[in-house]
Amino acid sequence: MAGCTISPLAFTMAMEVIIRASKWVVGGERLQSGQRLPPIRAYMDDMTTLTSTIACTKHLLGKLQANITWARMKFKPSKSRSISIVKGKLVDQRFYIKDTPIPLVSELPVKSLGRWYNASLKDSDQCDQLREETIKGLVSIDKTLLPGKLKLWCLQFGLLPRLMWPLTVYEIPMTKVEKLERTVSSYIKKWLGLPRCLSNIGLYGHGALELPVSSLTEEYKCTKVRLNMTLTESQDGMIQAAAPRLATGRKWMPSEAVQQAKSALRHGDIVGQVQHGRGGFGLGASRPTWHKATSTQRRKLVVSQVRHQEEADRCAKAVSQSKQGQWTSWENLEHRKLTWKDLWEMEGRQISFIIRATYDVLPTPKNLHQWFGEDPSCALCQTPATLRHILTGCKTSLSQGRYTWRHNQVLRQLAITLEGRRTTNNALPPQCLDTQRPPLL
Ligand SMILES: [Zn+2]
Repeated sequence: MAGCTISPLAFTMAMEVIIRASKWVVGGERLQSGQRLPPIRAYMDDMTTLTSTIACTKHLLGKLQANITWARMKFKPSKSRSISIVKGKLVDQRFYIKDTPIPLVSELPVKSLGRWYNASLKDSDQCDQLREETIKGLVSIDKTLLPGKLKLWCLQFGLLPRLMWPLTVYEIPMTKVEKLERTVSSYIKKWLGLPRCLSNIGLYGHGALELPVSSLTEEYKCTKVRLNMTLTESQDGMIQAAAPRLATGRKWMPSEAVQQAKSALRHGDIVGQVQHGRGGFGLGASRPTWHKATSTQRRKLVVSQVRHQEEADRCAKAVSQSKQGQWTSWENLEHRKLTWKDLWEMEGRQISFIIRATYDVLPTPKNLHQWFGEDPSCALCQTPATLRHILTGCKTSLSQGRYTWRHNQVLRQLAITLEGRRTTNNALPPQCLDTQRPPLL
């Protein structure tokens, strides 16, 4: 029954009886570490058998078939797949359930728990497929007639969550994910009206300006770290001992990242809780200490530490950028976080202006000189017109009152209205004013 909390448990218990009654007939595969894997593994009604010889598999299938028939259930050979590897090569060994052949994976690839299994035994095909799907998704978002910020929202809450599961289950190297992120970034820049020269720190960094978009690389690292910890720190000893090494290429390894994060957290424990800001002792938000944290909290702490490390790397990169990293040298910088609510209230051009002004990529005469070789001097005072000069530093504009002109125009309108009101009120007869006055207590 859909939504019933007991029926899955009852089903699992019944399946457990069948699995236990069948698995004792053969021994499981023995790993190099000397550990023996269970011959049958199951998730609800999906079952996987893994043995080391053909005879064992046939024996196991026979026993399973007998027990399943005893329980009045049925296997569907057409929905099952078999794969046989001898000395690292695929062989066409066919297995049968009650004289019905099970198709080979090489004949008919199969998808289980969101993951495709095919004869290549590699994930490079899936990697290419993921790239194609991502680009297809980006193009279809791009083709809609929505404004840029809504396209960004579609990416953040529609496309990115769909990419997370393939990134978790397939062995995709870091370099491929970075390449994918560059493609995603190019679309984000297009939608927000930003120049192509803006670095990724401007989009995903949390330094001067924080946008509500997630970086694909950061999310990938977090999912891999989470997966690594789920496997290596599982409560099941079998999973813990047989946890595979997650292949993510040579550039970045989840196991190393987890070790680094753990040592940083242990160091944090030694340092203790430090007071940030101007609040009194104990008024700041406290985080759970590493040695007291439960396994779930530890996983969260490690993931947040990985995010923290990513941000630190971005900051280090920003310092080396002389132009777009100028904000790193600003004193008393007020960190600004743009939420989705802020974006809804802004015009598209305003969002673009804020980002471009923060990272100094607006078409100021100085920048235009650098990009296209145009005259870099200010049209008013003939000094080099940088962003700072244009926005706050032009002496001519200051003396002519150009900076305050707009502000003063608004004040002028307010003053005219107030003055009009004052004159009308003063022109009223005195007794009329008395009646309007509130009674004195
Ligand atoms: Zn000037």
